[in-house]
Amino acid sequence: MKLAAFGAGALGAVRDGHIVALQADSDPAGPPPTMASVIEAGPVGLWRAEALARASQYRFDLSGVRLRAPLDRPGKIIAAPVNYSRHMSEMSETLDINDLGVFLKANSSVCGPGDVIRLPYADRRFDQEGELGVVIGRQARGIAEADALDAVFGYTCLLDITMRGGEDRSLRKSFDTFTPIGPWIVTADEVGNPDSLALTCSVSGRVRQEGNTRSLIWPVAKLVAYTSSVMTLYPGDVIATGTPEGVGPLADGDSIELTIEKIGTLSVRVSAAGATACPTAGAGRGPVPPPPR
Ligand code: MN
Repeated sequence: MKLAAFGAGALGAVRDGHIVALQADSDPAGPPPTMASVIEAGPVGLWRAEALARASQYRFDLSGVRLRAPLDRPGKIIAAPVNYSRHMSEMSETLDINDLGVFLKANSSVCGPGDVIRLPYADRRFDQEGELGVVIGRQARGIAEADALDAVFGYTCLLDITMRGGEDRSLRKSFDTFTPIGPWIVTADEVGNPDSLALTCSVSGRVRQEGNTRSLIWPVAKLVAYTSSVMTLYPGDVIATGTPEGVGPLADGDSIELTIEKIGTLSVRVSAAGATACPTAGAGRGPVPPPPR
């Protein structure tokens, strides 16, 4: 099932270029579901969402609705640093996820399809990082790798927008609008193996990243299991799995399209309107990103 947030707080199921609204008046027993309520209700939530979709009379052409971030404020966003070896090489990094573990991005950095990434500073470099996003479906603490995918609700496209430099990762990746997700969440049953998905990211019409999640240094199950050994995972938490090679600088007026096999395409725009001078002094430090191509 593909679940999308759209309009002013509506939830819908996407199929064949259409979206079917999950509306309360086809289910007088309860309030309309939200993405969070569907996820938190576990298998019952999905069953109810499917029943509402079947009964719904509200069917729209996808091109006629305004999609929103499928989760507008995840409980937390955990992210993998350097989880593809060719990205490690392009950054002249000597450390990967085996050395670094994971880090956190602010949940307030989320935005959605069609939204605008706002670059805060005129004197710093900001890059796109196209990534597979994992949405956690149930509470998990110390989960075994063999069971880890059972804790996954679904998958989405995720852009980990990054300021290059020597400041802390959690700062450089947490500016408002720096975590676009969408265009919807595809449930885990529909995706199957998350470690075999082609990923393509284009900026202003030029392909920058062509990767596949089979090249992940830590595959999804290991990443979920490890993360759950550090912190309890809750329904609706999101994990950014890391980016393949091909990161590059963003500029005012750019558009970004991230396509992941079995999920879809997330499109956002970039604006530097109102950008100021950066108040922190990390520009000359940190991993060295590849030159613009
Ligand atoms: Mn990243």
